[in-house]
Amino acid sequence: MGIGFGGYGLYLLISLPALLLGFWAQLKVKGAINKYSKIRTIAGFTGAQVARKMLDSNGMSDVRIEETNGILTDHYDPRSNTLRLSSNNFRGISIAAAGIAAHEAGHAIQDEENYAPLKFRAFMVPSVQIGSWLGPIIFIGGLLINWINLAWLGVAIFGVTAVFSLVTLPVEFNASNRAKAWLSTSGVIYQQENDGIKKVLDAAALTYVAAAIQAITTLLYYVFLLTGSRRR
Ligand SMILES: [Zn+2]
Repeated sequence: MGIGFGGYGLYLLISLPALLLGFWAQLKVKGAINKYSKIRTIAGFTGAQVARKMLDSNGMSDVRIEETNGILTDHYDPRSNTLRLSSNNFRGISIAAAGIAAHEAGHAIQDEENYAPLKFRAFMVPSVQIGSWLGPIIFIGGLLINWINLAWLGVAIFGVTAVFSLVTLPVEFNASNRAKAWLSTSGVIYQQENDGIKKVLDAAALTYVAAAIQAITTLLYYVFLLTGSRRR
């Protein structure tokens, strides 16, 4: 079994571009949110008001909107039908707050409409929580004791994580598209503000693309390591 420097070199070769894309995406989303959380919207609604209006206009006045602690902790909780916005976005009157609040409202509407990728993603969560750490352990264990089928089992278990990161993409893009479409016609956002909304939401989407590429390249690395060591 040769996981020597050749293996680590291969890992860097495969993973470095994905890691760099991930760092770049993080910088980009922080930059966009930093910039557009300081730009007040003309209509002057808080993020909480934007989300309320979007949900009500979709006949979803039963979904609660709560303020939550932390930065970028915004999420929709399907179990309690509650949309939680971080204080910056709950109280904030800004282009970033409006965009993020409408994106989260988009997830609530996906839930209401039984949007298939959202349901599939929620179904996968428990297995991903286990597979993301158990997969690599089983894989490395299989390599160490030279039991190739066990290593492949580890690859398969970790593979669930990669599939999950792919299923996340349509869920996130669709929520942002719903947000953009509703905001541009709601009167909450003026025409000249749409560009800022797009920049914030597209930067956030890029972080999910980077995460998916990272998961897939890690999976590919495992596969290369196994198929490569077999030929040697
Ligand atoms: Zn989202």
